[in-house]
Amino acid sequence: MKNEYDLIVIGAGPAGTPAAMAAAKFGLKVLLVDKREAPGGECLFEGCIPSKVLENAANHYASVAHSDRFHIELSGQEQIHWEGVLQDKNEIVKKRSMAAMGQIEKMPTLEYKQGSAKFVDAHSIQVEEEVFGFKKALIASGAKTAMPNIQGSGIDKVWTNRDVFFEETLPKEILFIGAGAISCELTQMFNKLGVKCHILERGERILKHLSQDCAMAVQKRMLEDGIEIDLNLNLESIDFEDGMFHVNFTQEGKSRTLKYTNVLMATGRIANVDGLGLENAGVEYDKNGVVVNEQLQSSQPHIFACGDAIKGPKFAHTASYEAGIVVHNMFAPSPHAVDFSKNSWVLFSDPQVGVVGIDEQNAKKDAMDVDIEMYDFAQDARAQIDKQAVGFVKFIIDKKTKVIIGVEIVSEDASSLIGEASLIVANKMTAMDVMSAIHPHPTLTESFGKIAQQIFFKSMMQRG
Ligand SMILES: Cc1cc2nc3c(=O)[nH]c(=O)nc-3n(C[C@H](O)[C@H](O)[C@H](O)COP(=O)(O)OP(=O)(O)OC[C@H]3O[C@@H](n4cnc5c(N)ncnc54)[C@H](O)[C@@H]3O)c2cc1C
Repeated sequence: MKNEYDLIVIGAGPAGTPAAMAAAKFGLKVLLVDKREAPGGECLFEGCIPSKVLENAANHYASVAHSDRFHIELSGQEQIHWEGVLQDKNEIVKKRSMAAMGQIEKMPTLEYKQGSAKFVDAHSIQVEEEVFGFKKALIASGAKTAMPNIQGSGIDKVWTNRDVFFEETLPKEILFIGAGAISCELTQMFNKLGVKCHILERGERILKHLSQDCAMAVQKRMLEDGIEIDLNLNLESIDFEDGMFHVNFTQEGKSRTLKYTNVLMATGRIANVDGLGLENAGVEYDKNGVVVNEQLQSSQPHIFACGDAIKGPKFAHTASYEAGIVVHNMFAPSPHAVDFSKNSWVLFSDPQVGVVGIDEQNAKKDAMDVDIEMYDFAQDARAQIDKQAVGFVKFIIDKKTKVIIGVEIVSEDASSLIGEASLIVANKMTAMDVMSAIHPHPTLTESFGKIAQQIFFKSMMQRG
């Protein structure tokens, strides 16, 4: 067939782009297709990067607002200029997408095509009016906000992450629906910028994917900062009248309505499989996305899927990790299976939360025989100096082997500390191994040495 490729990749996010580039580096003829003009995916344009530009601005603004803690007197006229924050975001996004496009253009066997891709059959796809054949394909079409199945004239007007980073003026108030990672991060960021924030959550607590004590540390800070949180409720409908959303729900058997000028829906993520023509290619999918085996192969062995388009962790770094596995399994002998036992991730909340390996919640759920050891940042010199003496480091230790199989961190700087924790878990270290490192004083990294010492002293005492 004319226009025949060794590999066609649908979606140019953190899953599709590195997969396409890796295959092209081996000299394979690759077509990378995305609806967007440039590569980067939801992560770059409406996810990780815009939210972290916002986080950075919000944290700097909050530290100015709290500078009296360090005996600095300000005039009280300090302001944040939202248009400047948006400009920073746009510049970073443009710089990064152009850099990725530049790399693609330098690769002679890799072609980028803008358009909506749809399978015609198991060996060809259509992009707008053109049809392309492939030997292998990768579905890396990402995910979108899972909208709840409710009625009302306001449903089509609510924001998701695809809207909020494009608002030209800083909103005065936002009602967030859902209390997962995306919602909690955004709530705290906007709250720091002076936006009135309120969360509605159907579950009994926020951040259900985190252990109770990590989630409660974030919730405590939210409440201290004036964020309102309503739990255990059933969303009924969202109407829009006279420029206001009327959000109707039941809570403890009573009907309630909240009126807000802005509503942001962050009620989980659902894979982008609509419109891909998966039926035409005989590729199975379900409510979690494309169905794949451990080698990330779909029901059609030459068609793979990875990233947010499949069931599993939904992070940029796991999407890119999976992309590596896919390219290996497509073109190399002895296939690899995905293994998330050493995965790490960060919630860019306040305080931040970092998790690597198994967390306490899942260890208990799986009835694993583990010991838990905690180090409290209240006693830490650096944390006291920074006036951020909250949070902890928690080791989850396999009782039998003494190997540290998971670490949870709640700290002002969990996003940096998680790096060392990742190495501890990936290298299957014990407390004795961690103790052999000498950590500099006064830094938050001393917490690792201290917690390892605690474990060592406890075991000495148990031995008598
Ligand atoms: C607000 C927010 C903050 C986040 N923060 C973080 C973070 O801090 N750290 C982190 O690790 N993760 C974060 N994530 C998650 C991260 O963005 C995703 O896990 C990641 O983008 C998944 O990568 P992907 O390549 O699978 O999908 P995507 O990045 O969604 O890319 C998929 C691409 O496929 C294209 N596409 C879809 N269908 C078609 C089609 N039919 N034809 C052509 N193209 C198509 C889309 O246009 C899109 O560009 C965040 C997400 C959100 C929403």
